[in-house]
Amino acid sequence: MSILKVARMGNPVLREKARRVEVAEIRQPAFQKFVDDMIETMNEYRGIGLAAPQVHEPVRLMVVGIQHDEDDEDDSKIEVVPLINPEVTAIGSDTVEGWEGCLSIPEVRGRVRRAVEIRLQALDRRGKRIDLTLQGFPARVVQHEADHLDGVLFIDRMGSFDSLTYLDEYARFWAKD
Ligand code: ZN
Repeated sequence: MSILKVARMGNPVLREKARRVEVAEIRQPAFQKFVDDMIETMNEYRGIGLAAPQVHEPVRLMVVGIQHDEDDEDDSKIEVVPLINPEVTAIGSDTVEGWEGCLSIPEVRGRVRRAVEIRLQALDRRGKRIDLTLQGFPARVVQHEADHLDGVLFIDRMGSFDSLTYLDEYARFWAKD
């Protein structure tokens, strides 16, 4: 496995609309290796999600860490799920504001409003259909990563830049929020 180079804000690859993955492509060793490399890269940089355009591949693939028990802080309970050609639909109209960061926009946090509950449809790394309902933080992570596949960054979703914060100041003033 390899750790991939992460594209940072300003790299045009982050603003492209990523192409869909063909089902026949999923079983190919090169694609499977790419999925493993994305997982390794996400873990290396301690991210909770990573989209393929962030590692210079504009395809509709993302890996997300889904924590099933929200109250449990133990990292070992986080399941890393590769999602191919994901479709995200908001369930209801409830939204909630929360802090987000991005490996492509290092050292910065900002508050973003997202749907509280979503339906996630995608293919897994074997090409099998996934159809899930997610709420809260996992729903936020999936919405953030899915945006990357359309060239959208979290700062585009900020209603105001008032909360845009460097990580040091975040830790100092806001981490307890
Ligand atoms: Zn991101």
